[in-house]
Amino acid sequence: MESYKSFIGGKWVGTEATTHNVNPSDTKDLLGLAAQSGIEHVNQAVAAAREAFPAWSTSPIQLRSRILDVTGNEILARRDELGRLLASEEGKTLREATGEVIRAGEIFKFMAGEALRIPGEVLDSTRPGMTVEITREAVGVIGMITPWNFPIAIPAWKTAPALAFGNCVVIKPAELVPASAQVLADILHRAGLPDGVFNLVLGKGSVVGQALIEHPGIDAISFTGSQGVGENIAQIAASRMIRCQLEMGGKNPLVVMDDADIDIAVECALDGSFFATGQRCTASSRLIVQSGIHDQFVERLVSRMKAINVGHALDPQTHIGPVVDLRQLESNFSHVHSARAEGAELIYGGERLDLATPGFYMSPALLIATHNDMKINQDEVFGPVASVIPAADFDEALAIANNTRFGLSSGIVTRSLKHAAAFKRHSQAGMVMVNAPTAGVDPHVPFGGRKASSFGPREQGRYAIEFYTSVKTSYIQP
Ligand code: NAD
Repeated sequence: MESYKSFIGGKWVGTEATTHNVNPSDTKDLLGLAAQSGIEHVNQAVAAAREAFPAWSTSPIQLRSRILDVTGNEILARRDELGRLLASEEGKTLREATGEVIRAGEIFKFMAGEALRIPGEVLDSTRPGMTVEITREAVGVIGMITPWNFPIAIPAWKTAPALAFGNCVVIKPAELVPASAQVLADILHRAGLPDGVFNLVLGKGSVVGQALIEHPGIDAISFTGSQGVGENIAQIAASRMIRCQLEMGGKNPLVVMDDADIDIAVECALDGSFFATGQRCTASSRLIVQSGIHDQFVERLVSRMKAINVGHALDPQTHIGPVVDLRQLESNFSHVHSARAEGAELIYGGERLDLATPGFYMSPALLIATHNDMKINQDEVFGPVASVIPAADFDEALAIANNTRFGLSSGIVTRSLKHAAAFKRHSQAGMVMVNAPTAGVDPHVPFGGRKASSFGPREQGRYAIEFYTSVKTSYIQP
């Protein structure tokens, strides 16, 4: 059995107390035991990162680029093995997990390139003879806190730019996915990263996470997770006057217009709402459907849902894996239950499934006859649950789409250029999809949302530099 440890100052550090890493597809399958670090390990990790920072932040960009490239190559070369590991601990299907591993590898390779082209500017000063230089420098030690639903891609998309621009890292991954975090630490270490530049501390959010955000040796915090935890981080960061970047929940709308290609609409809904077990911050949990196409859309979607196999994440026949754990499963059922109590009709799914292996299996759930004010359409479920909200026309559909405290991703399925253009312009979301699922984004472009979904500079692509560097303006009089 595996034992997952924290990685501090280039050394693996275990603890007496451990937690179980259980396979959600088969709860009899205990994958390993994870260390439960405490505040002392956070202190040691931050101290190691602070010690490593002066040398790393001034290290040759070629060295940084090479380490990131080697890391990306190893992740890509081990895609099948790491995909199995990720599918086993998180429960997404092997295809989805391997795709996530590939994405993580590609992010490291993209950032290997960015390390070599850190931009600056040279301008004439308003004072004669003087020149002004605008350069970017590393911020310092970055505290990172990540969720369980993308166990390698999210740590990758935070770590890769942090290292590319010369920062040191202390990361606390989610308790449910220690194996993927350990793999990343191991690969970075063997790729030649100096000791102390990347530190991993396994443990509870309320202990390790809280200690990390309160630690005076942390210069910035990058967080992905739920809104409640994010708000707490924002307050602490503000009181310490350090920068923070928060990526949080979503209640993403997919608008289906009467003029939509029905096949595209159904596939977008199926993928966006239910694949990855709906456990994506970009999942389309609100399907806003124009009245002319409503009945046909619902009928076709239900018939596609009936053909979906829910099963063990490693079974090649599986389309949707299990829910990540019992707590999330119960929370999903309670959302469905309360939606029905509010008057929604459960037209399909929403049931616990007993399959060949004991796991947290749930059939994807579709609720109809809902309206946007219902709790089910305002609160994030984070499971395979979607509801249909009827709309009379484009204006009503757009108003419903925007009537949410979140603003991560949104989508429209239409053949009308006018509707597509108007939706793209007026949707209050950070990412807008036309004739494509709300989930599923490219690794080389900015990722993030508006309103309660995101706070601070964007992650990923060239925009990641905004968070991970500090701008310096230098005046030179020769
Ligand atoms: P969570 O907020 O429960 O946990 C996220 C991380 O925060 C974990 O590592 C957890 O241990 C840590 N944490 C918990 N309490 C803490 C505290 N008091 N102080 C510091 N850290 C603490 O979220 P989750 O259940 O792991 O993930 C699901 C959530 O993540 C959903 O809301 C989802 O929408 C969101 N998410 C957002 C994005 C995005 O990019 N917008 C991507 C993926 C997931």
